[in-house]
Amino acid sequence: MKFKFIKKGTKKYSVLKLKCPKCQEGDLFVDTNPYHLNRCLLMNEKCLKCNQDFQIEPGFYYGSIWMSYPIVVLITIFVTSFFYLYLELSLLFFIIILAFVMLTLQPLILRLGRAMWLNIFVRFDEK
Ligand SMILES: [Zn+2]
Repeated sequence: MKFKFIKKGTKKYSVLKLKCPKCQEGDLFVDTNPYHLNRCLLMNEKCLKCNQDFQIEPGFYYGSIWMSYPIVVLITIFVTSFFYLYLELSLLFFIIILAFVMLTLQPLILRLGRAMWLNIFVRFDEK
């Protein structure tokens, strides 16, 4: 993804580009396509550029669920506002659309949650 408006060295850059929080060059995930579902959450053990450990402790990424949660809430608010309140679709149709949107975006949400979680514990180190 191209994010020319986000400067390197910021947490946003690392999270949105799914890069190592320390050097912001190495990829967090083995496969860059989140929709290869069997490899969606497969992460590199260490950064291939700066050797930063991505598996800080066993079960480290359980905490990333708390990062994904607000993203899910925001998407739900947006979809509800648009399809249910603005377009006034029936409840059943709205639930089907919400489920479709959530299932479609789930790989991206999970990856963003992990990137945000890792960025809390690892700082950018420009060398
Ligand atoms: Zn790195």
